[in-house]
Amino acid sequence: MDRLIDRHRAVLPNWLALYYADPIEIVHASGRRVTDANGTTYLDFFAGILTNALGYDVPEVSDAVRKQLDTGILHTSTLYLIRAQVELAEEIARLSGIPDAKVFFTNSGTEANETALMLATQYRRSNQVLAMRNSYHGRAFATVGITGNRGWSASALSPVRVSYVHGGYPYRSPFRGMSDADYIAACVEDLRDVLQTGTSGDVACMIAEPIQGVGGFATPPDGLFGAFAEVLAEHGILFISDEVQTGWGRTGTHFWGIQAHGVVPDMMTFAKGLGNGLAIGGVVARGEVMDCLTANSISTFGGNPVATVGARAVLDYVREHDLQGNAHTLGTRLLSGLRDISARHPVVGDVRGKGLMVGVELVEPGGMTPSPAVATRVLEETRARGLLVGKGGLHNNVIRLAPPMTLTAEELEEALTILGDSIAAASGEDH
Ligand code: PMP
Repeated sequence: MDRLIDRHRAVLPNWLALYYADPIEIVHASGRRVTDANGTTYLDFFAGILTNALGYDVPEVSDAVRKQLDTGILHTSTLYLIRAQVELAEEIARLSGIPDAKVFFTNSGTEANETALMLATQYRRSNQVLAMRNSYHGRAFATVGITGNRGWSASALSPVRVSYVHGGYPYRSPFRGMSDADYIAACVEDLRDVLQTGTSGDVACMIAEPIQGVGGFATPPDGLFGAFAEVLAEHGILFISDEVQTGWGRTGTHFWGIQAHGVVPDMMTFAKGLGNGLAIGGVVARGEVMDCLTANSISTFGGNPVATVGARAVLDYVREHDLQGNAHTLGTRLLSGLRDISARHPVVGDVRGKGLMVGVELVEPGGMTPSPAVATRVLEETRARGLLVGKGGLHNNVIRLAPPMTLTAEELEEALTILGDSIAAASGEDH
């Protein structure tokens, strides 16, 4: 048993998702390209599910981390002051736009959302939570419990009581086909109805992804969450924006995905791209909400010096190189290129997204029936042509595109050509 895949299957859980019939082991990476153990190089349009916001082997980040490692002090827990942690918190608090913001660092998005839920439920003295249908918020007890997407909600034994709201996934919504204004009005009516008929009244918070990540880059119309927030404010319900995928300028028009909705949330959670591969996440919240806990708490590794020094370098890089602007420019071209491909191939049911976060939903030609088989073939066909993409969505029929935000225009055209060829091949058409 010397094949890595066999050893992996023997010792790691069955439920750990793996891509490809013949999974890839990445052994080298540079820029936007990764190389596997067989020496094959791929253009990376998923970047570890948006983890590598800057791509690979970025000297500004590696040098900052190496300098920290060279001090000889890797980490001594948050019982002592950590300069980089304070500086990073100051910067994120400022960037958040949340008044009197305070920041708590974690090691993952799951832990960030668990913390946000704990803060909201304690602050409001209620364990009732509103979440979006088809959402994903993590893999621990409360977060898996509120996750709406059944394919990723492994446990029904949630410590919180959750009610689900329409709106995050317009393509498969009962309000599909309406104008944006009518769609938002219908979702607001649903929210009011859920509050009235699906809760006991004392709701702690709503949590939502501005663009649903695991849910297939489903993209609600701008303004939806602003309209929701007005209803929530009437009841004193806190609003949490899960920015784990949509933060750091990824959506192009804004630094945080929620800003397109004209609302400043009470809390935001973040992770993934901030560390460019280093484990870091966190919560930024109104100070009063963050400080509502009275017992002591600690995160042994959250906000450790290596991760926070790296994250500061990532944030500097994002701003100095205007990666948000790049995400906007190239994202606009990515969407239009995919819409051209979509016009040629009836298996493409929907193309959606913002900035460098774009989903392609695959269906049976002529209708809306999900086609996970075509999506799996696209995944394999793109790989065979040297491109890594993501897959996901409620029906596992969405190709997810989220390259590093340092992407170049040439790399984008290369990917579009491969995607066009792969979709043609996967749908059994000649091209
Ligand atoms: N929230 C969202 C929106 C996510 O996409 C993810 C990860 N896919 C998480 C939370 C959980 O983050 P992590 O995997 O770092 O625990």
